[in-house]
Amino acid sequence: VVEYRSIRKQYGEFVAIGSVTARVNKGEVVCLIGPSGSGKSTLLRTTNALEQIQGGELLFDGKPLPASKAGIRQVRQRMGMVFQNFELFPHKTVLENITVGPRTVLKVSEQEARKRAVALLDKVGLADKADKYPANLSGGQQQRVAIARALAMEPEVMLFDEPTSALDPETIGEVLNVMKRLAEEGMTMIVVTHEMTFARRVADWVVVFDRGNIVEQGPAAQIFDNPQAERTRDFLSHLG
Ligand code: ATP
Ligand code: MG
Repeated sequence: VVEYRSIRKQYGEFVAIGSVTARVNKGEVVCLIGPSGSGKSTLLRTTNALEQIQGGELLFDGKPLPASKAGIRQVRQRMGMVFQNFELFPHKTVLENITVGPRTVLKVSEQEARKRAVALLDKVGLADKADKYPANLSGGQQQRVAIARALAMEPEVMLFDEPTSALDPETIGEVLNVMKRLAEEGMTMIVVTHEMTFARRVADWVVVFDRGNIVEQGPAAQIFDNPQAERTRDFLSHLG
């Protein structure tokens, strides 16, 4: 579904991504791991054109990302994104947070949008929170709402950037469980994470970053049980 061909990304002179080649097939979960500042978020953000690339080619569904604003908007609609800090609309209820995208962008009727939102809330285990405001939810609950909101747009791919990094330890598990279930249902997912247990269990493919390049990539079992690169071993051994 997503193919990175020798992607290069610079901020001015600074090379954030040197040359990255990887692919994400339909229905796969690909985890991006590696030290802070290694380019994981940058790669994720190039995927839905939040960042422009300076070299190489990024294919979505076999086609290069469009250059036009309208084209980019369409691509973004087909990719859901979940960030570290949820970024829910604070003055909207949980239900409104989920229905606003489908209603305004997809032109779904209010009734239909509500119906879908209720089903999604049920799916993430928050059926009873529809009328609450984000501030009245725990971090883990807010993040599950953010996932439901992204799913409401019926994306083909879900992009996650450290979705549990800002959470209290006791709410991390509930978010990871929702993600795990999503993976089991066949959603294509690209996940930047420091949750190695999750990566090992759920990822089909793991990409290890260091200083803007891939040091190693392969099936989760290989990366965690039999890493080939010194840098991978180094990174994994420092995780504690
Ligand atoms: P972390 O685990 O801390 O989130 P990361 O692997 O996601 O790290 P990136 O955020 O992709 O790392 O950043 C890669 C490099 O690019 C870093 O050195 C960062 O300082 C730099 N960088 C990121 N965004 C910008 C920007 N807008 N302008 C300049 N440099 C940037
Ligand atoms: Mg990051």
